[in-house]
Amino acid sequence: MVLLPASQKLSVAVFPGRQLLPHRGCIDYAPRMNTERVFRFKRLVVKVGSSTVTGRGGVVNHDFLKPFCQAVAAFHAKGVGVVVVSSGAIALGRPMLGCPPAEKDLPTKQACAAAGQPMLMQSWIGELEKAGLKAAQILITRDDFKDRRRYLNARETIHRLLELGAIPIVNENDTVAVDEIQFGDNDNLASFVAGLVDSDLLVLLTDVEAVFDADPRKNKSARALSKIDEITDELLQAAGEAGALGRGGMRSKLLAARTAQQFGIPTVIAKGEALTLEKLSKGHRTGTWVSPAEGKMKSRKRWIAHALIPAGEIRVDEGAEKAIRQHGKSLLPGGIAGIRGNFDRGDLVEITTLDGRLLGRGLACYPAIEVLRLCGHRSDEIRQILGYSAGDEVVHRDDMVIQGKGGNDA
Ligand code: GLU
Repeated sequence: MVLLPASQKLSVAVFPGRQLLPHRGCIDYAPRMNTERVFRFKRLVVKVGSSTVTGRGGVVNHDFLKPFCQAVAAFHAKGVGVVVVSSGAIALGRPMLGCPPAEKDLPTKQACAAAGQPMLMQSWIGELEKAGLKAAQILITRDDFKDRRRYLNARETIHRLLELGAIPIVNENDTVAVDEIQFGDNDNLASFVAGLVDSDLLVLLTDVEAVFDADPRKNKSARALSKIDEITDELLQAAGEAGALGRGGMRSKLLAARTAQQFGIPTVIAKGEALTLEKLSKGHRTGTWVSPAEGKMKSRKRWIAHALIPAGEIRVDEGAEKAIRQHGKSLLPGGIAGIRGNFDRGDLVEITTLDGRLLGRGLACYPAIEVLRLCGHRSDEIRQILGYSAGDEVVHRDDMVIQGKGGNDA
């Protein structure tokens, strides 16, 4: 394997997580009639897309926003914390700046987002005010999730807003996010926000009532699914791509639901109308329920699993693969077959098997240049080889998340 120049350098600052504040109330929700245990939630993240927030011609759809804000107020009255992830900045900014949807280059989209975001917030502030609520704007980029201190700051701010009775309105900070640090679509952003604030439920609103087993726009016999336990590749293939305004689509919703699933958070994918929230606030079933994975990943592991962008790869031999996967061990230098990327100590690395499958992700205890010298050696030789030791492990089990089933070993 070759040592490649680093693509990104990540700084890692680790701070202990803060105890989450309890909410006054909660809502009981039964995903399916008589068959499931009741699910209780007291905090939810709801994502509304551009085509829901904006009507035709790039204007705010107040017919949606008004009853939606009233439904948010109903949650609020029950003591349930609501975080809204709202798209629509670019769609609103386009007509303001005279930029047609065909102009898809990054600077144009960023300019449109800069123009549209204040208008988007103005509408949220106005409609939430009419419903007796205060709004607050949170603009976030993927970069903000890389540094644990910034991650925890964002989390604290959102929790404090909820505590103060305000509704955080989150969007990607499109004006500064370049391609490689973008969440890409707000479905993905919403799943990360759900993890960030330890939400009990993620709600993704879309232009159809539920997830179907085939694309309902193309296939008349497509059936709506009331519950999904596993998001399979077939399901992803059947899902449609984005509509004209937003960047998402059913596929991106399923991918976001899969991320939430790994965080131990269930998702409801349902029709983008205020009635969906009203039903949920009364504990009535709606849309498709995507079950959470068993065993909730702890916040720090969640951050390792999804927030960071890998700076390199460590390939391990069969013995190390078995020790990690089956026996819950750390990664020691003796089991390393090769590395890729010039990662630093504290950077996120992908741990892969000899045949290139992803085994897990973790924070490196040594920089790439030193791991290269340690490959194949015993841990008790580290000091002699490097002249110092930062511990026996190249990736400690506490800083590692394993891919796939049984991976939530937080
Ligand atoms: N952040 C973008 C906006 O507000 C939307 C991204 C998306 O459609 O998912 O316009």
